[in-house]
Amino acid sequence: MKYYSTNGKAPIADLHKAVVKGLAEDRGLYMPERIKTLPKDFFENIDKLSFQEIAYTVADAFFGEDVEADALKKIVYDTLSFDCPVVKVKDNIYTLELFHGPTLAFKDVGARFMARLLQYFIRKEQSDHSLTSHLSPLTSQEVNVLVATSGDTGSAVANGFLGVEGIHVYVLYPKGKVSPIQECQFTTLGQNITAIEVDGVFDDCQALVKNAFMDTELNQHMKLTSANSINVARFLPQAFYYFNAYARMKALTSHLSPLTSNLVMCVPSGNFGNICAALFGHAQGLPIKRFIAANNANDIFYNYLQTGRYEPKPSKQTLANAMDVGDPSNFARIYDLYGKSHERISSLISGATYSDDQIRETMRQCYEETGYILDPHGACGYQALVDGLQPNEVGVFCETAHPAKFKEKVDDILGIDVDIPARLRAFMEGEKQSTPMTKDFADFKQYLLSQ
Ligand SMILES: *Cc1c(COP(=O)(O)O)cnc(C)c1O
Repeated sequence: MKYYSTNGKAPIADLHKAVVKGLAEDRGLYMPERIKTLPKDFFENIDKLSFQEIAYTVADAFFGEDVEADALKKIVYDTLSFDCPVVKVKDNIYTLELFHGPTLAFKDVGARFMARLLQYFIRKEQSDHSLTSHLSPLTSQEVNVLVATSGDTGSAVANGFLGVEGIHVYVLYPKGKVSPIQECQFTTLGQNITAIEVDGVFDDCQALVKNAFMDTELNQHMKLTSANSINVARFLPQAFYYFNAYARMKALTSHLSPLTSNLVMCVPSGNFGNICAALFGHAQGLPIKRFIAANNANDIFYNYLQTGRYEPKPSKQTLANAMDVGDPSNFARIYDLYGKSHERISSLISGATYSDDQIRETMRQCYEETGYILDPHGACGYQALVDGLQPNEVGVFCETAHPAKFKEKVDDILGIDVDIPARLRAFMEGEKQSTPMTKDFADFKQYLLSQ
């Protein structure tokens, strides 16, 4: 499969290049040239397949031309060593729980998949290299993954890559703006993971990473790649969730009217990687009627839907901090996928935006009414269904993180003591190690050159 850039000025790339480079030369995002639709009988029998079997079929449609079947199957099966169940919350509202991975947030799947695919390509490069020439001094060098995080990306990527040979990960995060539990998930790992504490906001971290990729001198010095949701190997595998959700809903609601006409998928969104993957799934034929992008007070996409104008703004800090994004990267992909048509986009996707007060109120109401504990991100998704679902529709919202990841907030809002799962507790016992950094690119560049 070939990949083009959303900015249309970079050369066409193969999967290998798109994964290693992350961002195209013209700062655009890579898009697959074709999206294969899956056969009808796959959807007819999907409820009888396991999550891993479903995911392999979807992965094969995206990556099958570029990765040998055995290797791809192993990557998919190793990545999905945990489930993502659908749970009924009330009436016609269900949740797709995406927090059963190692760091209890949905980004585990994309990060684990990307780590394994990148390692596959690095090994291939090394074996090709030893067979052929010694002309390119960079080929055998370590690959450096740079990742900016507003919280959950850092922990998922760091853990997805932990101990993966030939790869070093630098996690950039905004000082004082991620929860203590999130912070310990990427600052206590050691080994091939370095945490960098930036004196700024998430957008500053993202700008440092983007500038590093564009810097010629730096790229001559070291091999750099991205693991942000802009990387095709991270965002596309998130499509697996939505096929699985459809399969589980098909089994759960077989007595209802045909789901093909009434299933609504609601995705709490920040950088829009997760919902973008869902839209790719839709383009592969997944029968979802429509989508809702649920936002916190960062309402850039919501405003775009209303006005047709995309106007990035500085991000605002909110309770749902993994969605504090003022210029969602994957908007460029969504815009491209629908031929830049506001009409097509707004007829398939609607929006919702919630203040911190509304998020708190939602969490309380849902807990009182149903006993279900929402985290602040999932709360936006739940409320968007409560507000937006038609009586004949069935809605599934993504619960994108385990509430214990935001324990201080959740305990305070609900007046309860949320249990901390054992795998989260283990992180909290490690020692924090991080490198302080200004938001000035010159400082960051100097630091990387000295590595
Ligand atoms: C990253 C994240 C989101 C937003 O996902 P995008 O793909 O960036 O839109 C939502 N909730 C949680 C808990 C997250 O970590």
